[in-house]
Amino acid sequence: MSTTRNERLGRLRDRRRVTTLVVGGGINGISTYRELALQGVDVLLVERADFMSGASSAPSRMIHGGLRYLENGEFGLVRESLRERNRLLRNAPHYISPLPTLIPMSGHLSGIGAAISRFFGGTPKPGARGSLIVKLGLTLYDFYSGRGNPLPRNSFYGRAETRKRWPALSPEISCAALYHDARISYAERLGIEMILDVERDAPQALALNHVEMAGLDGAVATLRDKLTGETLCVRPDVIVNATGAWIDLTNMLLAEDAPKFIGGTKGSHLVLRSPALVEALGDKMVYFANRDGRVCILFEHFGNVLAGSTDISVDTPEGVRCEDDETSYILQSVREVFPAVAIGEEDILFRFSGVRPLPRAETGVNAAISRDHSCEWLDRAGVPVLNLIGGKWTTFRAFGAEAADMVLDKIGIARGVGTESMAIGGGADYPASDQAKTQWLKSEAEFGAISEGRAAQLLQRYGTRAQQFVPGAADSPVTSLPSYSRAEIEWIVDNEHVATLGDLILRRTAIAFSGELSLAALEELSAIAAGVLGWSADERRRQIDDLVTQLATNHGLDADALAARNPDRKEADVPVPESPHEPPVRKRQMS
Ligand SMILES: Cc1cc2nc3c(=O)[nH]c(=O)nc-3n(C[C@H](O)[C@H](O)[C@H](O)COP(=O)(O)OP(=O)(O)OC[C@H]3O[C@@H](n4cnc5c(N)ncnc54)[C@H](O)[C@@H]3O)c2cc1C
Repeated sequence: MSTTRNERLGRLRDRRRVTTLVVGGGINGISTYRELALQGVDVLLVERADFMSGASSAPSRMIHGGLRYLENGEFGLVRESLRERNRLLRNAPHYISPLPTLIPMSGHLSGIGAAISRFFGGTPKPGARGSLIVKLGLTLYDFYSGRGNPLPRNSFYGRAETRKRWPALSPEISCAALYHDARISYAERLGIEMILDVERDAPQALALNHVEMAGLDGAVATLRDKLTGETLCVRPDVIVNATGAWIDLTNMLLAEDAPKFIGGTKGSHLVLRSPALVEALGDKMVYFANRDGRVCILFEHFGNVLAGSTDISVDTPEGVRCEDDETSYILQSVREVFPAVAIGEEDILFRFSGVRPLPRAETGVNAAISRDHSCEWLDRAGVPVLNLIGGKWTTFRAFGAEAADMVLDKIGIARGVGTESMAIGGGADYPASDQAKTQWLKSEAEFGAISEGRAAQLLQRYGTRAQQFVPGAADSPVTSLPSYSRAEIEWIVDNEHVATLGDLILRRTAIAFSGELSLAALEELSAIAAGVLGWSADERRRQIDDLVTQLATNHGLDADALAARNPDRKEADVPVPESPHEPPVRKRQMS
């Protein structure tokens, strides 16, 4: 049995002092926590909701340099992002993979004036970019990808070749460019896996989800367990404010008259079920400017299509969701680039939204706000507070390392360990070649008495962490969700800081995101979680009701839609593994 939440809370109750308190368990807070923990620092991470439930669960899932940022002259950001992208391809190969990206264009010369203006600090309205400006950008992009770039260089196609290769694209498209970036499959899981790595490698550190920073009295921080209401106090030497779009709100709890750092913009995405669009896209992401000149993305994800995003200024990060006008806007953008593919609201499986924690900026054009990151000390609170401002998902390691170095400097500890080439979670010992993968699957299949298809599915979901599965006496599939087994769900709930049904269904797995969730699956999964976490019948019902409300409010998925996905669903509707009824892999002692 793994360490339970109660045991972790017990450790927090026994602890009066910590060297560093990191507030906010998004990707940047977790990265800073990992960096500090690995140096032996006594660090505590608290996250008010679940880990990775803010902006970090809402990205377009691109691990990229940011071709667009070249126009803003942000060469340093692009270089750093490409370096981090290349590192992630090596350190987390179970989730990060190459993403061939197609830029369809309808002219050659457009965008040159705007790009020149942007480069010199102007903020022209976004508009289409023609092939000349894209060619220049991609040449620079290849240059900044460096000598160690593991991905192929860019290529261009004229009208005839573009039509031949991608016939479903709008006839207005006159040419296309192809370049390579990367994508992340399980964004939320990568954050959790870093927390689990720290648990294994730096036991002095402690991370708690559903615990919020509620206030600071002198040098004593008040924390509140959101699940029980219990209040806990701890005295930190340094606080790291990694609360993303909530940074200014958090600082209001810490000091009077704290300066404002953030000017967040909301972005929403849709997950669409459209076999025709999946076929039209193939393995490529289509990265295009819509009629407003805003860059949109479309690519296949878990058998469906991810489409996004919007970029709208918001005053508060609270309660954001994909609104109806955003839904229409995204669907319209998809129709512009693939007019022959019929797509409508009935094809939407899931919607999600998040707020980019961008630095406060005076510009009328949100796309022009820098995606770079910075760290700023706030010295007005009873404890020094380091604020993590801005940043991209892609650059979390570099951002966390920079923040940790500033904290280490403050507390007088020298860095001993670097994370540049450190594998993350199930990326450790990941089979590096096709041959090694075949061998891995064969040996795991033999060891666990499962099919190679099931071993491949587990490798794709959990990387080499799949080897840690602990089977029940007799494993069986989740009846309403046969691509998952009961032991697999039990293992996640038991080992991965799951405290609510939403943690399991929205962030430890892609069950909701991939459109596989039904009411029947909710019932079954909640029963399995209740068995592990000891929920009463009332508590289990409350968990289901809470999640159904959340899904309806935040993800456009109401109880009727969930019920419509119940049992008499046809097999072909849901991706079924080769061998869903296999027993799990057997218990293995990990080194
Ligand atoms: C629509 C969209 C698309 C994007 N696409 C990409 C992309 O494709 N590639 C890319 O590289 N980047 C992308 N990004 C950017 C990236 O997702 C964010 O920069 C990154 O996730 C920010 O992480 P964070 O940890 O700083 O913030 P968050 O993930 O928001 O974490 C902050 C956390 O603080 C917690 N918190 C708040 N107050 C408290 C408190 N008082 N106590 C405890 N906890 C608290 C919140 O609950 C939250 O979980 C995108 C962002 C958005 C919104």
